[in-house]
Amino acid sequence: MSDVLVIGGGAIGLLTARELVRSGAGVTLVEMGATGREASWAGGGIISPLYPWRYADSVTALSLRSQRHYPQLCATLREETGIDSELIRSGLLILDPQEQDQALPWGRQHRTRIETLTPGALRELAPGLGFTPPTALWMPEIAQIRNPRFVRALRRSIEGRVRIREQEEAVELLVDSGRAVGARTRKGRIAADLIVVCSGAWTARLFEQLGKRPAIEPVRGQMLLFHAAPGQLDRIVLFRDRYLIPRKDGRILIGSTLEHEGFVKTTTAEAKEDLYQAAVELLPSLGRVPIEDHWAGLRPGSPGGIPYIGAYPGIRGLYFNAGHYRNGLVTGPASARLAADLLLGRAPVLDPSPYALDADR
Ligand SMILES: Cc1cc2nc3c(=O)[nH]c(=O)nc-3n(C[C@H](O)[C@H](O)[C@H](O)COP(=O)(O)OP(=O)(O)OC[C@H]3O[C@@H](n4cnc5c(N)ncnc54)[C@H](O)[C@@H]3O)c2cc1C
Repeated sequence: MSDVLVIGGGAIGLLTARELVRSGAGVTLVEMGATGREASWAGGGIISPLYPWRYADSVTALSLRSQRHYPQLCATLREETGIDSELIRSGLLILDPQEQDQALPWGRQHRTRIETLTPGALRELAPGLGFTPPTALWMPEIAQIRNPRFVRALRRSIEGRVRIREQEEAVELLVDSGRAVGARTRKGRIAADLIVVCSGAWTARLFEQLGKRPAIEPVRGQMLLFHAAPGQLDRIVLFRDRYLIPRKDGRILIGSTLEHEGFVKTTTAEAKEDLYQAAVELLPSLGRVPIEDHWAGLRPGSPGGIPYIGAYPGIRGLYFNAGHYRNGLVTGPASARLAADLLLGRAPVLDPSPYALDADR
């Protein structure tokens, strides 16, 4: 079977490498830093888009397929590695009543449970919220994962089967007579029959040399972590694009900002204050809880949040799986499966046309 080079070791690269190696391919993964330390580490781990009805059906198709697959995936990863990705079905509460008109028909169309809650029912599910809208939305099936653990488990599950080369940046795609033949890295050359670029926010850079490139750009997101104790909140809560995520050990995350600042990953005092105010407004008891951490990650922003998955036109053997924007964890497993199908010439699990480089986004 052909040797595949995966460029980028975030959730998307790791999941893609895992799919490929499980199908019998020989796989090398090259990562410029350490695997699973960029957006896939920084993210919130909600296994749903926020306000899923705002996305195109092409994003929904990847999300729904991945959501069905996550319980089995996390169980297998745990068996293989001993690492618990902490998949919990916390459910998602949405406190923006005006979303109802779009949400309820979308839920019926996609067979996803969405209920409306009275103020009393909301208080029962999430006591201690700072305010109670006249109606809330409740999606009881939505789960979360502890994404730093998930990416660690993914890495461990492929160690020994995939050649993982860290601290090695791919700087040029090598093309000979219209065919991809490998990549030049800062340490040398890696030959491969097939290449799949999974470089997250950095993806467009690698395609600059080829002319046409995916419209992927970094979008910074900052998060705050509260060192809360278990029992303070059990549900994911979303209001005006800010969300609280309660982890299994009680810690609570609040996210996130959307900032177009290029490849700058520093945190800012303004975002910290803004997130802190939003957190205390949503759950006033957080005002008594110490902030444990504050970080930022670079999302691979793409038009409409529709990832690029498929073959690079005009160059045989060159593929991409990148640009998952705000939803790379929820769409990752299905994206990896689709990319592997296309690379290995299998019948694709989903119609790949909406994810092509030239597709309308
Ligand atoms: C604050 C925040 C909250 C989020 N919350 C959620 C959420 O709740 N649910 C959800 O589904 N998604 C969420 N996301 C989005 C999700 O994290 C991303 O869509 C996903 O992690 C993208 O995965 P990736 O592997 O493409 O990118 P990354 O994890 O960034 O990985 C790309 C990797 O490629 C490497 N790389 C880049 N260029 C090269 C090169 N030339 N050579 C070698 N290696 C290279 C990088 O070092 C990096 O490790 C969130 C993101 C952020 C920032």
